Amino acid sequence: MRAIQVEQTGGPEVLREVELADPNPGAGELLVEVHAAGVNYIDTYQRSGLYPRQTPFTLGLEGAGAVRAVGAGVSRFDVGDRVAWSDAQGSYAELATVAAERAVAVPNGVSYEQAAGALLQGMTAHVLVTSTYPVADGEAVLVHAAAGGVGLLLTQLASARGARVIATVSTEEKAALARAAGAAEVIRYTEVADLAAEVRAHTDGQGVAVVYDGVGASTFDASLDSLRRRGMMVLFGASSGPVPPVDPQRLNSSGSLYLTRPTLFHYVTTREELEYHAGAVLDSVADGTLDIRVGHRYQLADARTAHEDLQARRTSGKLVLLP
Ligand code: NDP
Repeated sequence: MRAIQVEQTGGPEVLREVELADPNPGAGELLVEVHAAGVNYIDTYQRSGLYPRQTPFTLGLEGAGAVRAVGAGVSRFDVGDRVAWSDAQGSYAELATVAAERAVAVPNGVSYEQAAGALLQGMTAHVLVTSTYPVADGEAVLVHAAAGGVGLLLTQLASARGARVIATVSTEEKAALARAAGAAEVIRYTEVADLAAEVRAHTDGQGVAVVYDGVGASTFDASLDSLRRRGMMVLFGASSGPVPPVDPQRLNSSGSLYLTRPTLFHYVTTREELEYHAGAVLDSVADGTLDIRVGHRYQLADARTAHEDLQARRTSGKLVLLP
């Protein structure tokens, strides 16, 4: 099978398509023909070495496809079933082995591309608005990079809960996408001198109840300054780079703030949690209430280009590889 391997960590140029032996499913595993592999920011952290892994390794955590074979002890799925997953290392490949307990069925009417586009970013967005900080009707919330993969889904889900979403984006084209996803206000954060002042101007000087910040280094300070008293800072990623160490006293002086740094995998540890969050997302895709915008499709061999585009801020919505 063809697969995208990282032999040495580094920039997008380290991504190589290689020929590997077809894997066999172990006990409890599915062997899946990957029809669409999701590209996520975490893949760039693994590729660059920010999240260290032993090399060589096949990149990719997320995908959707058809079950080709099942390992010993698997009763949940059969050959031919349509499945999707968000945490099977090695998903940038023609074939992937996926723990049956971590796979979910793809509902009728949801395509492989939509499923691969929905799961990791969709569950993240769902977890962030329902569990990390349960967004309430009428609250003002700030979503950074709102035209991105997670951003468009966060904007839709928070708006659906009745929140007034203040979105940040870098371009006018992305602003239009954020508005279409439900954002009430859109700020071009690359154009304004004082981002927190802009946010406060949209909230009668009060600040927002929660900031969902997946951008990190370049937005973190403004995010803290945009919060209302006792607001919640949700730092969930670092697309602009990691945030330097923080003095807890800043949380005091900025208004008894809360700071959390969540990761999806701590919220979907059990089968029950996986089915709850994945089910909510996939059902919403199936009934048309959640739009998965697959913005960019690439051949497997073009994984390098996908990473270059993602990190150069040229993308919106979801990126998928089509093996
Ligand atoms: P996106 O599609 O959001 O792409 C990243 C976006 O970040 C860009 O399009 C860009 O939007 C914005 N950005 C701002 N500054 C920079 C910069 N210097 N370089 C590159 N991009 C920049 O990616 P994802 O949806 O895949 O992920 C979004 C974030 O969510 C990431 O930080 C990721 O790690 C995190 N994440 C965290 C999870 C968790 O469990 N904690 C799970 C999934 C994702 P613009 O042009 O509008 O500025």
